[in-house]
Amino acid sequence: MSTLASLGEAVVDLAAVAANVRTVAAAAGTELMAVVKADGFGHGAVAVARAATAAGAGWLGTTSAAEALELRAAGLTAPVLSWLHPPDEDFARLIGDHVDLGVSTVPHLHAIAAAAQHLGAPAHVHLKADTGLSRNGATAGDWVELTAWAAKYEVAGDLRVRGVWSHLANAEHPGDPAVARQIDAFEDAVRAARAAGLDPDLIHLANSAAALAVPRARFGLCRAGLALYGVAPGPAVPAAGLRPAMTLRSRVVNVKRVPAGTGVSYGPDHVTRRPVTLALVPLGFADGVPRSAGGRAEVWLAGRRCRVVGRVAMDQCVVDAGDRPVRVGDPVVLFGAGPDHPTVTDWARWAGTNPHEILTGVGARVRRRHENTAVAAR
Ligand SMILES: *Cc1c(COP(=O)(O)O)cnc(C)c1O
Repeated sequence: MSTLASLGEAVVDLAAVAANVRTVAAAAGTELMAVVKADGFGHGAVAVARAATAAGAGWLGTTSAAEALELRAAGLTAPVLSWLHPPDEDFARLIGDHVDLGVSTVPHLHAIAAAAQHLGAPAHVHLKADTGLSRNGATAGDWVELTAWAAKYEVAGDLRVRGVWSHLANAEHPGDPAVARQIDAFEDAVRAARAAGLDPDLIHLANSAAALAVPRARFGLCRAGLALYGVAPGPAVPAAGLRPAMTLRSRVVNVKRVPAGTGVSYGPDHVTRRPVTLALVPLGFADGVPRSAGGRAEVWLAGRRCRVVGRVAMDQCVVDAGDRPVRVGDPVVLFGAGPDHPTVTDWARWAGTNPHEILTGVGARVRRRHENTAVAAR
């Protein structure tokens, strides 16, 4: 490992991930799929997958083939579902590595069956219904053909339909009638799959928000991402007991006292109104500090929250420390698990985005450090 200093560090508490797995599983009362796409929402997919499966998650979920194979290469043997593939994906490789495949179209199904025939081993597939999100998944009109082909291939021994699934568009608003409509459409799709002769063991629809707040969406398995990282899916979702897993921290690299009327950062968009101490934090939008949060965001510095002033630059941002005694080298927490720390949810609000984008936006320059606070330090 390099001894060079990192300008920023994302400390990931794997004990928090484990605790969140148990909290969500208890709330849902179902088996859990830990969704570790996008490098575990920026937390490190392999480390999160290990912690989550050790804590009882029975499944791992990834978006892409590369993500699924990374888990296998690291020695993880838990069932993995991967769900977003180009039709010319190397399905043989995935089948050979026992990766279950989400399937939304007949051309994908043909390609997977051909790969399975070639390999001489059946593919495990989860057929995806589009119940209202209009992304992946087969529409009700295409579902008949998809399930009919799947039944044929199953009889031929080329694949086994292990699951039927879909994804919700607005579960963080559990009372939205569209959520109930999607569940109804999903139940129709499950019935139609059974009518086509399929017998899937796994019926799954819920993401974190639905796992926590929509009992009808839970079925036998919930696919949880955000909540496992300790972030509440939304104000209307009960999230008691979730522990933030990531702390994004840095250290002050420059401090200056400036008079009133001093321009700060590009533009300048900000001019000091009185004499203040400015602290330079060496993280910018290339590191995941959203440019859109400039002038609104706060960081934890010298025992209190201080505002980020002026434009966030690519590599750095400036914090108004007021009259606080701040020194070069002082720790700065951008978001964390402390009771007074800004949260990922705060940053999402300041940036006008969702917490997923804040977590996955933490850049490659930020060093990840995994901790396991087996005895919770809070
Ligand atoms: C990302 C994702 C999830 C996890 O969603 P969260 O809201 O983060 O829990 C579940 N299912 C699918 C298909 C996803 O793409």
